[in-house]
Amino acid sequence: MCALLRPHLIYETLDAVPSDELLRRGVRLVLLDIDNTLAPYTRQTAGDALRAWAEAMRGAGLTLYLLSNNKGTRPETFATELDLPYVKRAKKPSPEAARSIMAELNVSPKETAIVGDQIYTDMLCAHRCGCLAVLIEPIELHNIWLRLRYWAERPFRRVHS
Ligand SMILES: [Mg+2]
Repeated sequence: MCALLRPHLIYETLDAVPSDELLRRGVRLVLLDIDNTLAPYTRQTAGDALRAWAEAMRGAGLTLYLLSNNKGTRPETFATELDLPYVKRAKKPSPEAARSIMAELNVSPKETAIVGDQIYTDMLCAHRCGCLAVLIEPIELHNIWLRLRYWAERPFRRVHS
């Protein structure tokens, strides 16, 4: 079970995820979690820094796609601001939504990275799809439930060997 939960790569922040390392591993498509990966739950807009980051990743040759479990309007807001396609209500760790995006873009799991802040949704989804699992630290643990979940994830926040 550990192998299905542990990430292949871990970074402190989204900014620290190196496009050249992803490209070196053959990644062409990056499926991005939104909440606490792109922005904390408490921030409602993407903002200039995130737009610049997305532009730099696309400039490096990576295709970005938002893959969010959020059921509200946040995915549309971020997708519009960042000019990216998106899927909401993705039900990660279910692999279905990620697989349908890969099929739509004709990209294989080996060429796809899933980037997110959660072990039991994002990382498990990545492993179930056969994608590169890239974990970042959640941006802000602003309530007790997020802190408890983070605590429960701690044993798996280590790189898969
Ligand atoms: Mg998240």
